[in-house]
Amino acid sequence: MTMPLMKTMKTGARKLKSKKIPMRRCVGCMESKPKSSLIRIACYEGEVSVDPAGKAKGRGVYLCPDRACMEKAKKKRALQRNFDADISDEKLEALFAEIEKYEKKDR
Ligand SMILES: [Zn+2]
Repeated sequence: MTMPLMKTMKTGARKLKSKKIPMRRCVGCMESKPKSSLIRIACYEGEVSVDPAGKAKGRGVYLCPDRACMEKAKKKRALQRNFDADISDEKLEALFAEIEKYEKKDR
């Protein structure tokens, strides 16, 4: 019992000490939030995809996994502008539907 407990305490302390949380701006609400609470959308060679791990190649934008932010981003054509790409409403909806899966996961 003591061993695992000590382990968690150790890692917890290290987390507290180490660097600031990386912040990213959501293209929907334009608020800066911890990167881990946002979903990255990547655009590489004209192909736009949801990139939950944040490691895909290409340009990326960040969006809250929140329908309100998605709607804002859609209205502003934020993705199209950031990626300088033509993204159809259908494609956007498909991306948003994928992002919503993460919303439900209670990240
Ligand atoms: Zn947002």
